[in-house]
Amino acid sequence: MTLVNKLLFHCFKVCVFFVALSSVNAYAANTITAARVWPAQDYTRITLESNSPITYKMLSIKNPDRIVVDIENIELNTVLKSLTDKILANDPYITQVRVANFKPNVVRLVVDLKAEVKPNAFTLLPAGEYKHRLVLDIYPVKDPIMAMLAQHENEPTAENLPSSGIPATPSTSETPAANPSTPTEATKPGMIIEPLPQQGAETNDPFDTAGEPSKPVETVKPAEKSLPAVEPKVETPQVAILKKNTLDQKGQYSDLREIIIALDAGHGGEDPGARGATGSHEKHITLAIAKKLKEKIDSEPGMRAVLTRDGDYFIPLHGRVIKARKLQADLFVSIHADAFTNPAARGSSVFALSERGATSASARYLAKKENESDLIGGVSLDDKDPVLARTLLDLSQTATISDSLKLGKAVLGQIGDINKLHKNHVEQAGFAVLKSPDIPSILVETAFISNPEEERKLNDNAYQDKLADSILTGIKKYFATNPALAKTKLAKD
Ligand SMILES: [Zn+2]
Repeated sequence: MTLVNKLLFHCFKVCVFFVALSSVNAYAANTITAARVWPAQDYTRITLESNSPITYKMLSIKNPDRIVVDIENIELNTVLKSLTDKILANDPYITQVRVANFKPNVVRLVVDLKAEVKPNAFTLLPAGEYKHRLVLDIYPVKDPIMAMLAQHENEPTAENLPSSGIPATPSTSETPAANPSTPTEATKPGMIIEPLPQQGAETNDPFDTAGEPSKPVETVKPAEKSLPAVEPKVETPQVAILKKNTLDQKGQYSDLREIIIALDAGHGGEDPGARGATGSHEKHITLAIAKKLKEKIDSEPGMRAVLTRDGDYFIPLHGRVIKARKLQADLFVSIHADAFTNPAARGSSVFALSERGATSASARYLAKKENESDLIGGVSLDDKDPVLARTLLDLSQTATISDSLKLGKAVLGQIGDINKLHKNHVEQAGFAVLKSPDIPSILVETAFISNPEEERKLNDNAYQDKLADSILTGIKKYFATNPALAKTKLAKD
């Protein structure tokens, strides 16, 4: 081989290498590394996770109701296929999910629905231990809380309030509300409107997706700038309708109305919260304690508890506040378990909101960590009601914080009888979940889940029971010395 030939042969090898490399790049598919489903009465969430941003299109179709999500530049792997087995038979909204190749590098998900829903798809940047995520939230057309409150309107008692504070059955028989999407949505930037393919138009369509189109096709470029196809509206709180007693013959209330206590089990669903030394998840412990406390409160005369969540699903922090206000709660108690890098850290603590900075560096650190719940749990940037958010910010919380501190002190005093206190006074910081302008709110860090001994106690049934007892006693002591709250609420009715 001459020198020229050798050079030519070498060039040929290099060229073949680059052609091969570029063809790999052209067909390099993104890979779904995890698929999770969080079914709940409030909403069912499907999450897909991958190492790179996920690009998708979503559309809703009627007759029968279903949602189609086309994921681009993706390979159909076993993780994606496993999604079909993750839908529970008792999912309130989803009948089944079908997954198949739609065309080269495009995987089509068809979510068959039990009723008309409000879907909201969005992507999330890496947060916590998660990489890129595509989230599909499926909301009922009618807000379960508002449906429950409407049902109780004009009823003299709240006796048939469901134990979880939400309806026990899906609202499949309810008249669907008007579709909140409007033609103006089509003009939003980043959204491209295409006609839905007619039946038979796509010969390689793995599923029959033809039908009466109800939604435009949404194209997301880039993946992180998603707009929801249907924006779930946050409804404004209504006037109190849960009254225990009616007017007597003199036109006066014969008794105070029932005291409603919102119990907020921290974290949930995508957001596991802190992880214990032996792997316990904060979200499970907080729910177990909240459920125990609810049972105890419900057996107290004149008191009733409502849970902001009653299962393993995520609720945004502002959503917990809104829920408590919709339910006309008199108090809000958020239950958590603390964690620190040093496993020796231990003890219980109670926090209230601060409007002017934190009372200590550790309180500021904790509030920052707890407020990251929204990032990890996954909140669509588009689903916050700007009007309501502004109202919440504008209202002074000084009077409420004063009550929150009294409540916190009463609860901390009781917990001090069963566990060492991390701090023996109520600390304050900017916890987002405590920002109810008119509901005294506290956050209880029951113990350190990162401390092996306290983690064991937090998982212990008897200890959870003692914790619930001490919080209840604290609440009762607060009401014994601050009865004005219930009367004020009554006067407003
Ligand atoms: Zn927490």
